[in-house]
Amino acid sequence: MPQIDHAIELTDYRRQDFSVCLGCKICASVCTVNDITGNTNPQDMLQRIFLGKDISADEPLVRSCTGCYRCTGACPWEIRIPDVIRALRHELNVESPFEKAFKGSVSLFGRVYEPYVLMKAVPFLIRGGYMQHVTRWMEYMGFHLPHRVKRT
Ligand code: SF4
Ligand code: SF4
Repeated sequence: MPQIDHAIELTDYRRQDFSVCLGCKICASVCTVNDITGNTNPQDMLQRIFLGKDISADEPLVRSCTGCYRCTGACPWEIRIPDVIRALRHELNVESPFEKAFKGSVSLFGRVYEPYVLMKAVPFLIRGGYMQHVTRWMEYMGFHLPHRVKRT
């Protein structure tokens, strides 16, 4: 079965729902994986799957999408790209290291425990060469931490 049909079956989308994509790349500008790597574009992946091109298991988003839904939240059409990625993973029989870590944390602690997830993700980050982006990643983490507001 072509990947687009598989995605349609698993996401409840219709083929024409993908064609509304404006190509604005807002999804890329907010993508967590793109924040770290700088060369990841969810819109490009969506376009290729829509055009019937095969997406491989080595695709950065197939391997590393965190399922944060920042792309969906920012998209003018709220296209659920992570749902499409999940359908691709299902078809390619790929389980992302983050998914494994999240599931492991929930089964051990009953919730997502971030230090555990990070500990489990480190070997993957080293193997995948992502440690070169660690400085950028720390900036990103710092940006999302609560900031003290100075009273005047
Ligand atoms: S859900 Fe995946 S594709 Fe969307 S912003 Fe997060 S990491 Fe990027
Ligand atoms: S933000 Fe939405 S409409 Fe814009 S390129 Fe991404 S998927 Fe397409």
